Amino acid sequence: MVTDVPNGRNVDILLVEDNPSDVQRIEHMLAMLEDAYRLHIASSVKSAHQTLSDQPVQIILLDLTLPDSDGLQTIRTMHATYPWVPIVVLTGLDNDQLVDEAATAGAHDYLVKHDLNPVDLWRVLRYALERRLHEEQLRTSQRAYRRQAGELHLLNRIISAASASKDEQSILDVTCLELAQFYSALRVLILMRHHQDSFVTLQAEHHQPDMPPVRHSQINQEVEDHFSSVYLIQQPLVCPHLPTNLRLFLNSPENSKAIIHPLILEKENIGFILLNLPHSHELAVSDVHLLAMVAEEIALALTKIRLHGRLQAYANELEDRVQERTQALAEANEQLKSLDKLKSKFVSDVSHELRNPITNLTLYLELLEFAKPEKRPKYFTILRNQIRRLANLVEEILTLSRLENESHQNLFQPVDFNYLIQQVVVAHKPRAQNKQIKLQFTPTTPLPPAWGEPNQITQIVTNLLDNALNYTTEGTITVATDRQEDESGTEIILTISDSGTGIQEGDLPYIFDRFYRGSQINRDEIMGTGLGLGIVNEIVALHNGRINVSSKPNQGSTFTVILPAATQE
Ligand code: ADP
Repeated sequence: MVTDVPNGRNVDILLVEDNPSDVQRIEHMLAMLEDAYRLHIASSVKSAHQTLSDQPVQIILLDLTLPDSDGLQTIRTMHATYPWVPIVVLTGLDNDQLVDEAATAGAHDYLVKHDLNPVDLWRVLRYALERRLHEEQLRTSQRAYRRQAGELHLLNRIISAASASKDEQSILDVTCLELAQFYSALRVLILMRHHQDSFVTLQAEHHQPDMPPVRHSQINQEVEDHFSSVYLIQQPLVCPHLPTNLRLFLNSPENSKAIIHPLILEKENIGFILLNLPHSHELAVSDVHLLAMVAEEIALALTKIRLHGRLQAYANELEDRVQERTQALAEANEQLKSLDKLKSKFVSDVSHELRNPITNLTLYLELLEFAKPEKRPKYFTILRNQIRRLANLVEEILTLSRLENESHQNLFQPVDFNYLIQQVVVAHKPRAQNKQIKLQFTPTTPLPPAWGEPNQITQIVTNLLDNALNYTTEGTITVATDRQEDESGTEIILTISDSGTGIQEGDLPYIFDRFYRGSQINRDEIMGTGLGLGIVNEIVALHNGRINVSSKPNQGSTFTVILPAATQE
């Protein structure tokens, strides 16, 4: 008795038999095997086809001698048309050769009609059904295997494309193409999530040739809502029926389907893959699994590229910094070298300048020892001059060294410029009167205070006035002050003009150099060190000021010093 029918359902059997008495016998026997079997009857191959087109069956019981077909040909025809339905042949003969030939033609089993009994019928039916079931299982696992092999192949292609490329866009393009081909999809889109104007932007697409491409402008609020919901639940959205707005956006047929899968990069949802499938595609869990794996691979590839990009940018930045530092070091080195040269020159100049008075002192001291009394006053004068010159030299060298080595900014204060100049002018009056030179001071009042160190500013005026007196034999020396405004603020101006020897054009570029003395001056008459203007120049620079000179030989010179005024606060 058949009680454990496969799948617990009725089994439909098609009996193809033209002999009514055989039909009856079999009907009778099946009835004895309880209700599990449902018998459909056809008396010819043609009517068998008709029945099968309306009603799928699980077993065909096939008589070999039929009005429209005969012998093995009947089996071949039926097997070719219904390859998955087991065929049990009903034969009048128990003939081994016939059995073999029937099996080759496609029969699963056979029953000899005149020996037929319910037990054999049950056994054969049962055996055929089980065999069919196993074959079905085998086919299912083959299909699954083929699908998995296909998926593996797809993943392999995407992974190798991703690892071969350093460009995000080309990885996304290849992914769309491969997915579209694998699924025979209508359309595959990759959209990236943004925070600014729109939620998503279309990044890559592949569509069937007869479909138009999707444009970014077609993404409206309703379309974005679908992506937002995927973003919020962080789960893929499977649409067996496309919502109208999504269908219009994709421009796809009414009954198409879609899956939207999130793209996650470093725990952050960066975008979505949208797979638009035709109606014929049967959605399965494996589709979602496959998309999850593809999404993971893309995320890995993008992570790699972005990491590489960041590393590259960092390496470039480091290289730039190293270059900058190297450059700065090279410049500092150059500066040190030129400073070193300047120092060496200064030291050799100092030694040279000191040697001169010392030699003179030694010489005149020796001369004095053996000099006649009437010559002595002259030698004493020379000795005094040389000592004064030496003292001046040492004093000025010390002044320069102090200017270079000490910080004076903390001594800066508002300086009453006119008052300070007045003091220096008064101190120089006797010398001017001695030389019968008119020394006048024309201050501009009111004058804002200068910003500086009073002693140093006094030194500027003293040195310039000393020079004016030194290099002027007759006429006038005028000291004046003034002010000027410019965009950086107020500036105080000092001018000292004389009607003296003037400066040769060839000397002008060098007069502020240390130890430089004019080429035409009479060194015996005008004692000097060549350091006066060097000191002035240094002080002016320390005060963020400027100095310039205009001069004509035999007509006189004008030195102009411009210093910043002290600000109100
Ligand atoms: P010194 O006066 O000791 O020679 P300075 O550095 O003060 O050194 O001046 C450098 C040179 O500039 C002088 O030797 C001189 O040739 C020229 N000089 C400076 N001031 C005047 C001036 N008022 N008139 C003419 N020549 C000047």
